[in-house]
Amino acid sequence: MAVPTTREQCAALDAVDPLAPLRKEFTLPVEGIYLDGNSLGVLPVRTPEVVRRTVEQEWGQGLITSWNAAGWTELPHTLGAGIAPLIGAGDGEVLVCDGVSINLFKILTAAMRMRPGRHTVLGERDTFPTDLYIAEGVTGLFEGARSVLLDSLDDLDAHLDEGVAAVVLSHVDYRTGVLLDMAGITERVHRAGALMIWDLCHSAGALPIDLTACEVDFAVGCTYKYLNAGPCAPGFLYAATRHHDAVRQPLTGWFGHAEPFAFRPEYQAAQGITRFMTSFPPLLALAGLRATLEIWEQVDLDQVRAKSLALTELFMARLADLEIVTPREPERRGSQVAIRYPDGFPVVQALIERGVIGDFRAPDLMRFGFTPLYTSYTDAWDAAEALREVLASGEWRAERFHRRGAVT
Ligand SMILES: *Cc1c(COP(=O)(O)O)cnc(C)c1O
Repeated sequence: MAVPTTREQCAALDAVDPLAPLRKEFTLPVEGIYLDGNSLGVLPVRTPEVVRRTVEQEWGQGLITSWNAAGWTELPHTLGAGIAPLIGAGDGEVLVCDGVSINLFKILTAAMRMRPGRHTVLGERDTFPTDLYIAEGVTGLFEGARSVLLDSLDDLDAHLDEGVAAVVLSHVDYRTGVLLDMAGITERVHRAGALMIWDLCHSAGALPIDLTACEVDFAVGCTYKYLNAGPCAPGFLYAATRHHDAVRQPLTGWFGHAEPFAFRPEYQAAQGITRFMTSFPPLLALAGLRATLEIWEQVDLDQVRAKSLALTELFMARLADLEIVTPREPERRGSQVAIRYPDGFPVVQALIERGVIGDFRAPDLMRFGFTPLYTSYTDAWDAAEALREVLASGEWRAERFHRRGAVT
C-alpha cells in the first residue's frame, strides 16, 4: 500500500479501515489527537458501567458472597485467559496480578533458583529502568550474582556463557520503538542454557505475539497501555507450563498457597500458575480489565499490526526531515515513533496545547504512540502537520512550555 501524500487519501483509507468501527468503543478527548496510548490507554465506553456494576452490585449487594457467586476468586485466571490469545499463550499460562516490577521480581528470582550455579542476569542498559532496578535487587539476594547490562544487543552472544541464568529484554523498546526478534533471541539464549524473560509492556495489544511458538520461558506485561484497562490496572505474567512444577517464587503469600482457606501455618505452593499469586489484585481495577477484554475478543491482531505499521509509516514519511530514531524497517519497529530533538520537552508541551498529546522521554526523545483501535489515518496526518507547524513557528520557545511537572 502506497503511503498517503494528501489528507484526502488518509480520509479514503479511514473509510475502508476494518478497525474503524471500533473507535466508537472508546471515549476520546473531545478535541485533539491522543498519541500516548502506549503510556496510558484511553477509557473504553463500556468500562464505567462494568466498574459501577462491580461496585454497586458485586460489592454493595453481594458483599462476601461475590467471591464465589461473582467469580472473584477466578478473576486472575479468567482475565489471564482473556489475555492469552493476544500473546500466544496456552491454557493456564497467564495470570493477572501485581505490577510489572513485582511480577518480574517473582519470575526472575524463580529463574535464578532454576539455574543454580549460574550467577549472571543479562539485560540492556537502555531498557525501561524498573526492569534493571529489579534485576539489581534480585541479584543482590544471591551470593555472587550480578546483573550485567549490555550497551548493544550485538554483544549478546559474546556474553552468553555458562554463567548466565536468565536474560531479560523488552520486546519493544519504550523509547526508540525498536522491536526485537523474539524467536531468534530466545533460541540463542536457550542454546546457552539460560532462561528467557520477555517484557511485553510495549507489544501486548500492539502486535501479534506468539510466546508458545517462540518457546519463551517467562514474560511480564502491562494492561494499562495498549490494552486500555485503566490507570495502574494490574499487570500479567506468563509462565510456560513446562516450568510450573519447578517454579519457586519468593513472595509466598496466601493466595499462592495450595489451600489458602485451610489456614495452615506452613506454606505449600499451589499447582500450576496459581503459585505466582501473592495477595489478591485490586478488584475494582480488575473490572477495568474485564471491560476492555470484551473489546479485545473482537479484535484481529493482524489487522492491528497492518494498520499500526501504516500509521507509523505515514507519520515518519511526513516528518522525514527530522531525526527519527525508530527503525523504518517494519519488522524492526513496534507501534510508536520516536524523534530525537534536544528541545523535545517544550516542543511536546506546545503540541499538547494544540491538542496533540505525545510525550517526552529524557534526554532528548519525543515519543508518539499509535493505537490502531482508535487512531485514524487523518489523526496521524493532522498530528504530523501540527508538529511541523510547532517547529516552523518556533512557538515552543515560549516560557510556559519549559515548566516540568512530576510526570513527563
Ligand atoms: C510501563 C512499563 C513498566 C511498568 O512497571 P510497573 O511496575 O507496572 O509500574 C515496566 N516495564 C516496562 C518496559 C514498561 O514499559
